[in-house]
Amino acid sequence: MRQDFKISYSRINTYLFCPYKYKLIYFDGVHVPINADITFGHIIHKTLEQFHSGKKQVYDVLFEYYDDVWKNDGFNDPHQIFEYYKRGKVMLTNYYASFINSNSKVLYVEKAFNTNIGKYKFVGIIDRIDIFDNSKHEIIDYKTHLKVWNQKMVDQDLQLSFYTYACKNVFGLNINKISIYFLSENKKIYTKRSRNEIINAMNIATKIAKDIESEKFLPDTSKCKMCSLKLKCKCSL
Ligand code: SF4
Repeated sequence: MRQDFKISYSRINTYLFCPYKYKLIYFDGVHVPINADITFGHIIHKTLEQFHSGKKQVYDVLFEYYDDVWKNDGFNDPHQIFEYYKRGKVMLTNYYASFINSNSKVLYVEKAFNTNIGKYKFVGIIDRIDIFDNSKHEIIDYKTHLKVWNQKMVDQDLQLSFYTYACKNVFGLNINKISIYFLSENKKIYTKRSRNEIINAMNIATKIAKDIESEKFLPDTSKCKMCSLKLKCKCSL
């Protein structure tokens, strides 16, 4: 086991998808091929981080950040670059309109936490935490893909359970709202997390941390068709 072993939502998600994929990425150092969706997601997250961290939160500045952070890595051709660039402009225009009409104040962007669950290091970065009504807080996770999840998917999202745990137990915040912000439709879907749901999520994280520590890396070949490493994996079907 490596000295820097730590657990995070993305690591847990990778392990849940296929334990062997976890091994390839985090033990063997295999890189996931970059694609348009990965690059685009990174660009939008970075643009919003810079926007909310900056002094002037006005429309033009938002698009200056967008142009500054734009990069062409992972796109298939100039046409695809243009299509994604246009999509981002619409996304950010709608985002800005909602932002200036919001009663909440952005408290943190890309807020990192670093804690322990049992003997394991547990880390993560929360896209945004807002404050409203003076002392209430909202956790917001951005999604940049086109498909908006249904309520059940949002309710069962493990990432939000981890973030709620971190906000309450690491930052000591009073969490009153939890949402996923689907930027492609400028739509937030709200959810809740009970104490038991958070405990269950943390138990899942601990169980997976133990399995990783024991180097249980069985391939799940039912996922190969959807796997971003299928061309690099010797177990691929
Ligand atoms: S190609 Fe299949 S076995 Fe290999 S990492 Fe991906 S899902 Fe797992």
